[in-house]
Amino acid sequence: MAHSDVAPAWEQRWHPLREEWVVVAAHRQDRPWQGQRAVVSGAGLPGYVESCYFCPGNVRVSGARNPAYQSVFVFDNDHPCVGGDAPRQLETPPGIYRNAPADGVARVVCYTPKHNTTLAELPAADIAALLGAWREQYLELGSRPEIRHVLIFENKGDVVGVSNPHPHGQIYATNFVFKTIETEAGASRRYYDEHHRVLFQDVVRSEQEDGRRILFESSSAIAFLPYFARYAYECYVAPKEAHASLATMSAEELRELASALKSLLVRYDNLWQMSFPYVLTLHQAPTDGADYTGFHFHIECHPPLRKPNLLKYLAGPEIGGGNFLSDTRPEAKAAELLAVPGVHYRHA
Ligand SMILES: [Zn+2]
Ligand SMILES: [Zn+2]
Repeated sequence: MAHSDVAPAWEQRWHPLREEWVVVAAHRQDRPWQGQRAVVSGAGLPGYVESCYFCPGNVRVSGARNPAYQSVFVFDNDHPCVGGDAPRQLETPPGIYRNAPADGVARVVCYTPKHNTTLAELPAADIAALLGAWREQYLELGSRPEIRHVLIFENKGDVVGVSNPHPHGQIYATNFVFKTIETEAGASRRYYDEHHRVLFQDVVRSEQEDGRRILFESSSAIAFLPYFARYAYECYVAPKEAHASLATMSAEELRELASALKSLLVRYDNLWQMSFPYVLTLHQAPTDGADYTGFHFHIECHPPLRKPNLLKYLAGPEIGGGNFLSDTRPEAKAAELLAVPGVHYRHA
């Protein structure tokens, strides 16, 4: 072995076969875990928990004290996977390999001071306020010269590894564009060049033509389970206008988008009368200064469950081959979501 040191690695390593960055953040191994027995639904939990790092007024592992916040609260992640403290002096890798500092900003976004609720159960007005906070973060972080992309997401549920049931999401502002966004941006660009039309708008039009998989529609927003869904209950929520990000959306559009998102998340929870786990991601245009004409902002929800106790396992086709094998018909799954009440079961 050429290197005997075992210092925890914190850097980006280039994957030459996939042509993408792998963020190695081995220094985070000792981060606190608060979720072993968390059900991630408000049921049975108090509104404030003394040992929660996210509740108002509490002291976090970094020693910082949370303010007595009233609505959305954003702070720098105490266990960042990308950040300003990432080592700048990196060991030169052997051969053709290359690395880069894991530069960037990682933040946590607490949606509400209330420990015992979820995004699905927040009033639409509070979700609109969250969209506003996400927009501010996108604009602030995206304006930094070293930031090429702002990934905003929420992991919900113990099956996707959430470590605290307090309703919150995360932001990774990075010096590279995440692969899925890069792929979507490339496809959108080629489609625009060829057809002079926005790809995502034609996706929406195709969904409207069919109609069976649309879960919510208002004058400016739409939610649907797409024809090409990879996960059983994979759904998209989007403004109908082709905004490249939240940045250019009007207050009214934000309100309608909030209603569309709430409507979807309520149907998720009502499906099995349980707090539905998912990975929710905002797909906004990169902030690297390139031209993203044709890119259409949307929110993607990827629930990992196929049935209440059955995970979609990624295996040979997905992990080994990179393509999804879906065991369910998107039309049938959309029909299930449409069949449940539109009011959250805990509030009915
Ligand atoms: Zn809390
Ligand atoms: Zn997308």
